[in-house]
Amino acid sequence: MDTKKRMEQLRTMFQKVIDPLGYKFSPDEEIVDYLLEQEVMLEKEKGSPFCPCQGLTGERGHDMKLVCPCIPFHREHFDAMKRCWCGLFVHKDVDDPDELVQISKQELEASSKSD
Ligand code: SF4
Repeated sequence: MDTKKRMEQLRTMFQKVIDPLGYKFSPDEEIVDYLLEQEVMLEKEKGSPFCPCQGLTGERGHDMKLVCPCIPFHREHFDAMKRCWCGLFVHKDVDDPDELVQISKQELEASSKSD
């Protein structure tokens, strides 16, 4: 299938999943286009639209948690940043995604322990 057409299909499918979770597509259209294109490539190569920003290990249980949108599996972490790891999705109240900081899970866990 044509890459652009598949990107549009993924956009429609993802919208239905992320909306009830309180997320929307990033207002940064350039990032959105880039990431969706990467996901279409990964889908062609590996069979699913895997995350373009998180490493696959080849272990199915691990990797299936990185099929986009992976928000339900990383909810606490992403909610703390108000964005998913790649920045494809942000919380609905975010107008400027550049203001959001990417925090690793380890950093987040360390900061919650020190609270
Ligand atoms: S981090 Fe974002 S782009 Fe990557 S799989 Fe998860 S929801 Fe999709």
